[in-house]
Amino acid sequence: VDAATPLDLANRWLFVTDLAQQSWCEQQVFYKFRPPRDTDDLLSVDIPNPSVEKGSIIHLAREAELHTKVPVPTTTKEDAFAVTVINIIGSLRRLLSGSPMVREMPIFGMPFDLGIFVSGIIDQVQCDPESMHYDIWELKTRSSMSVPSGAQKDSTKIQVMLYKKMLDDLILNRITHRMIEKHRKVDLYLELSLSVQAECPGSENNLHQLLSVLFDMGQKMTCVSQLFVEYCYQEDKSAIALEEVQYDEAWLCQKITHYSEFWYGKREVCGVDIEEAWKCHSCDFQDHCAWRAMKADEYTRKCTQQKQIKKNISVCLRGLFLLCRMLVGAATNISETTGYPPLVSIEY
Ligand code: SF4
Repeated sequence: VDAATPLDLANRWLFVTDLAQQSWCEQQVFYKFRPPRDTDDLLSVDIPNPSVEKGSIIHLAREAELHTKVPVPTTTKEDAFAVTVINIIGSLRRLLSGSPMVREMPIFGMPFDLGIFVSGIIDQVQCDPESMHYDIWELKTRSSMSVPSGAQKDSTKIQVMLYKKMLDDLILNRITHRMIEKHRKVDLYLELSLSVQAECPGSENNLHQLLSVLFDMGQKMTCVSQLFVEYCYQEDKSAIALEEVQYDEAWLCQKITHYSEFWYGKREVCGVDIEEAWKCHSCDFQDHCAWRAMKADEYTRKCTQQKQIKKNISVCLRGLFLLCRMLVGAATNISETTGYPPLVSIEY
């Protein structure tokens, strides 16, 4: 018996994009961690997706406009996590010292205290130097000159709302050393490699010290004000639309709580509803998907039942029709015999 929950399969922590894609199709997200049988090739073979590649190039170019990437050799998981923390500290420091924006800023947290550690990378944080309001911008590149469907927009909504939730939690001092230690399973006091120490903002040499710097810096910020999604056309990088997303904490909490039940194995995985079967046409797993097969069976059964019901109704109507004809015939015979008008008059 496989007792591993989906969260175990995901190594006990998630990316923001895992939760955002869950709103598109939970079954698809699950298959990325546990592919259906005979489909290992679907994930192991890296089939180039031209649209995704073009999108990545645009993202990288935008990041390069503001930052220069410096490779930092790491040897332990503590080193790797420390680099993430150093990148957040660097972004916050730039914002606090008056930079109008930073790009590709990592973020992490435990939204709504559901016990699930979540990581992500915010495309852009903008700062209004006068009001010191911070806004989050998410860039979505498109292969056509149009905004996406409502279903895709829902995923993006969850994504940007989660970024705000996690950045606000950092600012409101809701993230603790203990959370990181427990959920990322890191030794907060292990000495970091010299290559990582060289990138620390001061003389910090372990994760505990680095996190203290991060938490102090977070408290100097104010919570995120607005959320925007910018759609840009891949071919000429022209703007398609800029849309604001209204933050709704109750809605987000309800969604993430529902999603967490799946990750903890408290409910079965859910694929797309029959009305959204169009999503399956672009899915790598469509030929092997158990959910899709189950829904197809359900649909066939429903159609057969409906056909049977229609057949039964038509037999009943025919019987009724014949009965009426007999009654009319009988009434006519009586009236002819008695001279009274017919008792029954039915028109067909
Ligand atoms: S085939 Fe459809 S239901 Fe199955 S994983 Fe893909 S999108 Fe989801």
